[in-house]
Amino acid sequence: MLLRDLPPARVTHEVLNQPPPLEGYNLFEQDRALSEALRREGGGWAEERARRLGEIAGGEPMRWGAQANAYPPVLRTHDRYGHRIDEVEYHPAWHELMRLAVAHELHALPWRDPRPGAHVARAALFMLLGQAESGHGCPISMTYSGVSALRVQPEIAAEWEPRLTSTQYDPRMIPSEQKTGALCGMAMTEKQGGSDVRANTTRARALGRGGPGGEYEITGHKWFCSAPMCDAFLVLAHTERGLSCFLLPRWLPDGTRNRFYVQRLKDKLGNRSNASSEVEFDAAWARMVGEDGRGVPTIIEMVNHTRLDCIIGVAALMRQAVAQAMHHTAHRSAFGKTLTNQPLMQNVLADLCIESEATTAAMMRLARAYDESAHDEHQRHFARLATAVVKYWACKRAPMQVAEALECLGGSGYVEESILPRLYREAPLNGIWEGSGNVICLDVLRAMGREPESVEAFFDEVALAGGSEPRLATFVNALRKELTDFDAIEYRARRIVEQMALALQASLLVRHGDPAVAEAFCASRLTDDHGRAFGTLPRGVDCARIIDRARPQIG
Ligand SMILES: Cc1cc2nc3c(=O)[nH]c(=O)nc-3n(C[C@H](O)[C@H](O)[C@H](O)COP(=O)(O)OP(=O)(O)OC[C@H]3O[C@@H](n4cnc5c(N)ncnc54)[C@H](O)[C@@H]3O)c2cc1C
Repeated sequence: MLLRDLPPARVTHEVLNQPPPLEGYNLFEQDRALSEALRREGGGWAEERARRLGEIAGGEPMRWGAQANAYPPVLRTHDRYGHRIDEVEYHPAWHELMRLAVAHELHALPWRDPRPGAHVARAALFMLLGQAESGHGCPISMTYSGVSALRVQPEIAAEWEPRLTSTQYDPRMIPSEQKTGALCGMAMTEKQGGSDVRANTTRARALGRGGPGGEYEITGHKWFCSAPMCDAFLVLAHTERGLSCFLLPRWLPDGTRNRFYVQRLKDKLGNRSNASSEVEFDAAWARMVGEDGRGVPTIIEMVNHTRLDCIIGVAALMRQAVAQAMHHTAHRSAFGKTLTNQPLMQNVLADLCIESEATTAAMMRLARAYDESAHDEHQRHFARLATAVVKYWACKRAPMQVAEALECLGGSGYVEESILPRLYREAPLNGIWEGSGNVICLDVLRAMGREPESVEAFFDEVALAGGSEPRLATFVNALRKELTDFDAIEYRARRIVEQMALALQASLLVRHGDPAVAEAFCASRLTDDHGRAFGTLPRGVDCARIIDRARPQIG
């Protein structure tokens, strides 16, 4: 056949120099930083589970993730006859993701199987599925975290825990006693104050005697209430004794709907698969959890676990972004060379990998502290401080890291099909949730003031690297000096917390990381030998090794 006989489209549409799709690979097996950390931090027993979920997550859930975000949830306030129903309809892909997460115990593993390493194992699993889709992680995380707060009120926990830890996802809008599984949300933020929950205006009126476990009527509003199809919510409201914590179910004990009204859904930057709503409670029925007037200390148990999940969430985003960047640049050429072999691209890729590995290492170490906190006070102090420190820094790095990974794909990275725009839109969210940047830094100062043992626990962990890395020793000395200077300490809080996070990440990488990654991290993050952007690693870094270690090896 002659060229002129071909239809024009076929002549011009020869596709060259495009990578094969990055799909159908095992997200766990191809993530050495994660699989090494799972073994190291005590979750080795869950390796086979992680491998299985890694295989699944790299397949169909990637498609579900795209669909669940392309077809966001829709609020139905009323049925066709005019009755209020306050229900949210989701795309089937959302339900598939939820079913998968619940079946794999991402919402409950440490409560169902509290053996050593359970939080570590769950963290690995949560990170794997989080790479396919982030939004569904919200109700999964709140359910996981909610159990820790509910246990403060044993009779309520006895009723709800079996439902909240069931491995059956049951999305039916019916009373939870009739369901095979239930989910829990959290509603604290109000219009006039989110970080400062003392500004809450929602009121609770005792029905009868009141007090812990007692029945109340809640009246007020919440400006953010994500996943409103959860079966119950931990809510803050004022009693005469102060801000208190309540469990507010969607259904009343008599089998009718609670007075929980969804006003509208937020039109959000990202996280579009997940419904985030504004709700009003009009004498809604609830039960008090924990002591009257001690709502913040009660719900803080939940908040600490969701903070850990924010870190896992950004570790997932960073890893997926890096995997996409590695894969694309390994299969695309420009100016006569594969991109991954261009020296400047090597600098960018290696820098992105280091950030991702450092986040994964810190996240998994923290998860172990959650495992050990139950019987080890030192670990509890470490977890208290390090969770806030790592959350601040990981969440600050994620948007920049994901944006740079997106740029590695050039124009294709800006196109929805590449997944990078979705990762990018998601990236700032964990920084806002559960304490935004400043609030977290102030919380670090508060924790250090109130629990000096947490400072020692933190530095004990950092010191485990010994004197083997002189740059770390110098860095930590300077940091300790900063901490003894109280002048304008609030103003300086971000710098301090950033340095604490870097010290912890460096210590972990020096002790356990790949030597090339540890060396590059210390060279670039602990000294001034690094620019302001990613891709400014100093000379002498073994970029090829770092990249090779992190690249998904498919094709
Ligand atoms: C998608 C999404 C879903 C959400 N889902 C839920 C949910 O399900 N349940 C829920 O309860 N909440 C939810 N939230 C709310 C979220 O937790 C709050 O937005 C967050 O806690 C911040 O509160 P705020 O928006 O009132 O901001 P503000 O408290 O007004 O803070 C604004 C800014 O000021 C800073 N700031 C505050 N105090 C200080 C200070 N003393 N010094 C210096 N800086 C300060 C903060 O760091 C922040 O940057 C959700 C938010 C989003 C975006």
